[in-house]
Amino acid sequence: MDQPAAPAAPEDDKPHVLSDDKFHDECGVFGLWNVPDASAVTALGLHALQHRGQESTGIVTYDGARFHSHRGMGLVGDNFGDAKVIAGLPGTIAVGHNRYATTGETILRNVQPLYADFEFGGFAVAHNGNLTNAHVLHRQLVRRGCLFQSTTDSEVFVHLIAISLYSTVVDRLIDALKQVVGAYALVALTNEALMGVRDPLGVRPLILGRLGTGWVLASETCALDIVGAEFVRDVDPGEIVVINDQGVHSIKPFGRSTERFCVFEYIYFARPDSVMEGMPVYDARKRIGAVLARESHVDADVVVPVPDSGVPAAMGYAQEIGIPFEYGIVRNHYVGRTFIEPTDHIRNLGVKLKHSANRAVLAGKRVVLVDDSIVRGTTSRKIVEMVRGAGAAEVHMRISSPPTTHSCFYGIDTPERGKLLAAQYSLEEMAALIGVDSLAFISIDGLYRALGKGDRDPAKPYYCDACFTGDYPIALPDQADNSDRQLSLLTEVR
Ligand code: SF4
Repeated sequence: MDQPAAPAAPEDDKPHVLSDDKFHDECGVFGLWNVPDASAVTALGLHALQHRGQESTGIVTYDGARFHSHRGMGLVGDNFGDAKVIAGLPGTIAVGHNRYATTGETILRNVQPLYADFEFGGFAVAHNGNLTNAHVLHRQLVRRGCLFQSTTDSEVFVHLIAISLYSTVVDRLIDALKQVVGAYALVALTNEALMGVRDPLGVRPLILGRLGTGWVLASETCALDIVGAEFVRDVDPGEIVVINDQGVHSIKPFGRSTERFCVFEYIYFARPDSVMEGMPVYDARKRIGAVLARESHVDADVVVPVPDSGVPAAMGYAQEIGIPFEYGIVRNHYVGRTFIEPTDHIRNLGVKLKHSANRAVLAGKRVVLVDDSIVRGTTSRKIVEMVRGAGAAEVHMRISSPPTTHSCFYGIDTPERGKLLAAQYSLEEMAALIGVDSLAFISIDGLYRALGKGDRDPAKPYYCDACFTGDYPIALPDQADNSDRQLSLLTEVR
């Protein structure tokens, strides 16, 4: 098939060896109340949530008399694989965090959980999400004399709680929550209670589980499965759950609001074995693939996923159309942090470090290549090159999300809008840039239908889908400062 001439590549479109050209989830949170060996169990939970953040990790425990913490850069296994570290974290109550920085530098002082000593005792907090008025609040708090120790927006919670005039910790937390704007899921620990909070629209996930006579809070159900806990329920949007020896108490300080869960959790962020808002993620991805096939199939011999996240959608696609699903691209799972600052030579190897083409499957075939999203397009281009190099007769790319035309300000790491391929180019131009015979994305209505919600109602959309539609459900006060990225407090404190 003839291809249109390729327009110039977007600026700053360099290959990033380990940046696999995806939106990145930002953080995973986990908390326990009344569970023996809480630090070891929390380390397991964080291990199951490793896909939500790989830059740093931390655990704070409480043993009934004292708080203990260990925080470090790197993966959960690198930090909590040592029995001595776990032994240094005694207690039956814990909170833990995996971080992928969306705001703030990647440095040890930003590693969560954050901990502070207040007049009511110790307080540890782990935060998933992003405050869209963190800059505004930071400025006000600094003027009032607050001394920030980190450059992460999560520390705003700590100072708001510290200066609150309310007496109980729960009232202080509510006072703080009423001042912040943004998308967040928090787990917090005091010497009296474990607390979980979801933002009023429930953009970021948080679930409640039962483990023996104790309780678990986690970002995803896969973290319950690994520790043998039972799923109890999702924490509701805008709900605070306060867990202590008397049980779970629910507080809803914001009244009722319309839910806007992040639809990208179903497409890419969540682990496929998790259940989000009552829907198994694996099933959702297969259904998205089936709708994608109905909307945009072309004649082809084989459906090939871009592993790993494209796999369930490709399976759904192949089953819907009735042509073979094959692993035409093999992923190397052992590309480590070693290559994070590669030499030019290694950099030029690009995507081959992570993916290789399976010539036996691809040679002479008309290939439908299924991926979950296109962000900058850099990796897609290299993968297509690789598939063609393995002898594919035609390459048709099908994407199980609508075009990502807008940045996320709700805690997902995204390039600024000018670097998003779909924000800059038409469908035909994108196809030419990536080098495919044809390119199609699932429609926004098709995505909603695949998730069982009928067509998207623009007046009342069920999900947050702002990165596809530009319809931001939560105000963006910090963006008045003229940035189209999530802001780091670093811009104020350096
Ligand atoms: S903008 Fe996109 S990635 Fe961000 S919360 Fe909304 S749907 Fe999720």
